[in-house]
Amino acid sequence: MGIFSIISGRTFRHGIHPPQHKAATAGKPIRRLDFPPRLIVHLNQFIGRPARPIVRKGQEVVRGEPIAEPAGFVSVPLYAPATGVVRDIKLMPTARGPRAQAIIIDVHEASTQQVLYSTPPNNLAEMSREELVAAIQRAGLTGLGGAAFPTHVKYAQPPDDETQVDTLVVNGAECEPYLTADHRVMLEEPQDIVTGIEIALRACGAKRAIIGIEDNKRDAYEVLKEHVKDHPEIEVALVEAKYPQGAEKMLIKALLGREIAPGALPRSVGVVVSNVGTLAQMGRLVPRGEGLIERVVTVAGEGVKRPGNYRVPIGTPARFVLREAGFEGAHAEIIFGGPMMGNDVASLDTPVTMGVSGILVRDDKALPRTEKRIWPCIKCARCVEACPMYLNPSMLGQLAQAGQYEVMEERYNLLSCFECGCCAYVCPSNIPLVQLFRVAKAINSEKGD
Ligand code: SF4
Ligand code: SF4
Repeated sequence: MGIFSIISGRTFRHGIHPPQHKAATAGKPIRRLDFPPRLIVHLNQFIGRPARPIVRKGQEVVRGEPIAEPAGFVSVPLYAPATGVVRDIKLMPTARGPRAQAIIIDVHEASTQQVLYSTPPNNLAEMSREELVAAIQRAGLTGLGGAAFPTHVKYAQPPDDETQVDTLVVNGAECEPYLTADHRVMLEEPQDIVTGIEIALRACGAKRAIIGIEDNKRDAYEVLKEHVKDHPEIEVALVEAKYPQGAEKMLIKALLGREIAPGALPRSVGVVVSNVGTLAQMGRLVPRGEGLIERVVTVAGEGVKRPGNYRVPIGTPARFVLREAGFEGAHAEIIFGGPMMGNDVASLDTPVTMGVSGILVRDDKALPRTEKRIWPCIKCARCVEACPMYLNPSMLGQLAQAGQYEVMEERYNLLSCFECGCCAYVCPSNIPLVQLFRVAKAINSEKGD
């Protein structure tokens, strides 16, 4: 398997090869930051129904204690990321724009921040598939690669769907430039990943797992291969380093050759996809019965002096993380996530949530695109050649500029666009294609409501 994987150059068609910018952080071990004086824990930091607070203003909380309960099946509980006191529950800034309800915790400076809240461990060997799915929900796990979709929902067998999942695809691609958090987790926490995969296989009903790693992370490939040698149901495979290799559909195509129909989920082709970071947390938390309280974040970009991978409590404000990483605060663009699909952050009070894999600070010199002029489309078709979904971004862009939003959806498959940004990246006319597509989707969605 290993030799075949190395020489096969598994990949998908189209895509781009942007500069990787990973060298500044890839070689640095994960480091734990100090606890910030205040945490902002958003109730809606995952896809689904926002969690319901179960604490009140003024209440003392200890690290690891539940502070919000799931508001339904597509929802997860939240846990206190540090010992302290609930200062307030109110609207606070989010990375996606509008402010949202958050539990604000003033962190006790003198606390050792050990996880003192005790939960009964799970006896995994005796748990049924349904019990494992419930245990994963109790752990508050969502996709840590960026999607923040509740993990247990993907694993549960939907009552109205008889499709059986045969393969768990483990996403270790990390194709976004700058980001290396998953790379470090694969190097430093391989046993947790393997334990997480064993739990996930039972919870989703798959018989085998395949870990896909881009071929610019061969050290992680070797480490994981060594750790799965007594697990014949787990394969480790290299895929070509190409953006957006880490997108679910692209990774499934590269590893298994299966195509997912527009609008369908990986389950429709018998696959569930989970990120390596999520599985490492699953392997650590679920056996102990504990909940998610922290994550690894890559802090990088031209505007930070001490780039690295930092383990931070959920809810840590960007301002605190950046100060620790040596950000001096001038003329910078701050992005949560990678430069291709991340969100610009307007307020430094915006906290790290479950889906934030990186905080990038890019200075003015690194942002020529903000000064570029936009030219008309010259019909060069570079965007068509780059689009991994085989769309026609040029046509979609022209329709957007003409306000033909419904035509974009009905005739040109706008909803298959997952905003990877490949088209805008290659466009010599600097047309802001992704922004145009986002506006079109938002207007169509409002009309449909
Ligand atoms: S942003 Fe959308 S249209 Fe552009 S390349 Fe990606 S999927 Fe295709
Ligand atoms: S890459 Fe830009 S200029 Fe070329 S066809 Fe696409 S939209 Fe037009």
